[in-house]
Amino acid sequence: MPDHLFKTIAVVHSPFRQKFGIPRQPGLCPSVTGQIELRPPYNHPDTIRGLEGFSHIWIIFVFHAIEKEKWNPLVRPPRLGGNERVGVFASRSTHRPNPIGQSVVKLEKIENKNQKLILHISGHDLLNGTPVLDIKPYLPYAENIPQASSGFLKRTDFIPLQVSFTETAKAECQQWENKNQQALCDMLIEILQQDPRPAYHKKITTDREYGMQIYDLNIRYRLVADMVEIFELMPAGET
Ligand code: SAM
Repeated sequence: MPDHLFKTIAVVHSPFRQKFGIPRQPGLCPSVTGQIELRPPYNHPDTIRGLEGFSHIWIIFVFHAIEKEKWNPLVRPPRLGGNERVGVFASRSTHRPNPIGQSVVKLEKIENKNQKLILHISGHDLLNGTPVLDIKPYLPYAENIPQASSGFLKRTDFIPLQVSFTETAKAECQQWENKNQQALCDMLIEILQQDPRPAYHKKITTDREYGMQIYDLNIRYRLVADMVEIFELMPAGET
């Protein structure tokens, strides 16, 4: 069988400038916004005619920020605590023979301005700069399967963490929102409720401080027992 070569039809603009902190699946953090900018020659409005009537779309993309050629037949899904292994094709691991991802996201609006064709999306799990291979409408009549079973995932209970801001951090967050005319505070709560730490960190019982980059900010937070407190928002690059 021949190998195949695919074209990058679009690129993702996302608040996530590093992998740490990105939700592990779409839909988990509905406040996360982003844009998909179509590249020439796919930025002709004809390519998306009719898409505006769909509330959700599939994004087929490349996991471009992984170590290439580094996949294993067995992987350790974070939802199994990082101990148990399952087959790569029974997982959503980013390290696979073809590093291709698929995410259903909400289509908020379509912007067609100055030769730019941009799909505004929310609830995604994509790194900034992700190359997009394809966009397709989500078909609820065929793809919504309420009786579907979820394999090894049904053994794991997910309990969201409690997240709060210190007064200073809340003020910094609101200032950033006002300056940039973009939502941030709710998004940070949703992200940290999901506990982005790798599974092996979750076994650490002592209080710890963490940082993650969102937009141009380094978000600093501490974990005390199962409670997250965001205590500082600094320009990324400063310590
Ligand atoms: N929903 C997709 C799927 O099932 O194919 C992706 C699931 S994958 C577990 C989600 C993770 O991929 C994110 O938490 C982030 O760490 C990582 N990721 C997102 N975009 C990426 C990219 N362009 N390159 C490498 N890793 C990426």
